[in-house]
Amino acid sequence: MSTQPSTQERHPIVSLYHVSKRYGRRTALHDITLHVEHGGFVFVVGPSGAGKSTLLRLVYMEEFPSEGQVTVSGFVSTRMRRNRIPHLRRKVGLIFQDFKLLEDRNVFENVAFPLYVIGANRGYIRRTVLDLLGRVGLYQKRNAHPRELSGGEQQRVAIARALVNSPYVLLADEPTGNLDPVVAREILKLLFRINVAGTAVIMATHDHELVRRYRQRIVHVEQGEIVQDEEAFDLWSREASAPADPSEWREEPLVVEPREAAE
Ligand code: ADP
Repeated sequence: MSTQPSTQERHPIVSLYHVSKRYGRRTALHDITLHVEHGGFVFVVGPSGAGKSTLLRLVYMEEFPSEGQVTVSGFVSTRMRRNRIPHLRRKVGLIFQDFKLLEDRNVFENVAFPLYVIGANRGYIRRTVLDLLGRVGLYQKRNAHPRELSGGEQQRVAIARALVNSPYVLLADEPTGNLDPVVAREILKLLFRINVAGTAVIMATHDHELVRRYRQRIVHVEQGEIVQDEEAFDLWSREASAPADPSEWREEPLVVEPREAAE
């Protein structure tokens, strides 16, 4: 038998070691050990209240474990100084079920916002934001306001904003929860494309039906514990028990919309 560590053990970008999280007497997570490799993709699946959001908040270091340790790249929860947290957050993108866009700003400004905050120069902001809007298919809507967009479009704006600092990992907390199934699958395909381009993705969802057809790793969480960790594996072995439409999982190149040369 091989004594080599697995890829996930060798190159984790996110690790939780024996992590527990309690809120008063309520245990949200109990003894979670989970490694996500550089460029990995993980669905964290479980019913409401299972602890999925808590797990993502620990990775974002919005919360800290009651026991155990979280590491994200070189950032270690037990040694984290307050003034290092903004540096970590720049390298961890975050999207939510309810998009959390700034309603009084247009699409461009929403995506540019994290770059305004760090004082990036205007040329860099413009290049970066327009490139990202092209990638998520919203270049033409760059001047629209969130209220003028569909739910799927708003989530794509949120995704572009989450990627603006080239994060190591994108955390997605029920990103398809407010979307109809067709749009939900489009958002998943976009997440896969982002992942193929090199960003690790951890997506939490209660919707096992939505994600089981894909070949990515699925970590099942129930009552604060990992009850099953299905490795990413050959679609056909998973599909032996769950037939799928092959058009759903075919990888597509990163879509870049035709761009006007100059404005
Ligand atoms: P999920 O995202 O899977 O729905 P959560 O991580 O939101 O689950 O919640 C897991 C458990 O922790 C639930 O019992 C929830 O009520 C509890 N919980 C989460 N956040 C808090 C908090 N800030 N204060 C108290 N209890 C919390």
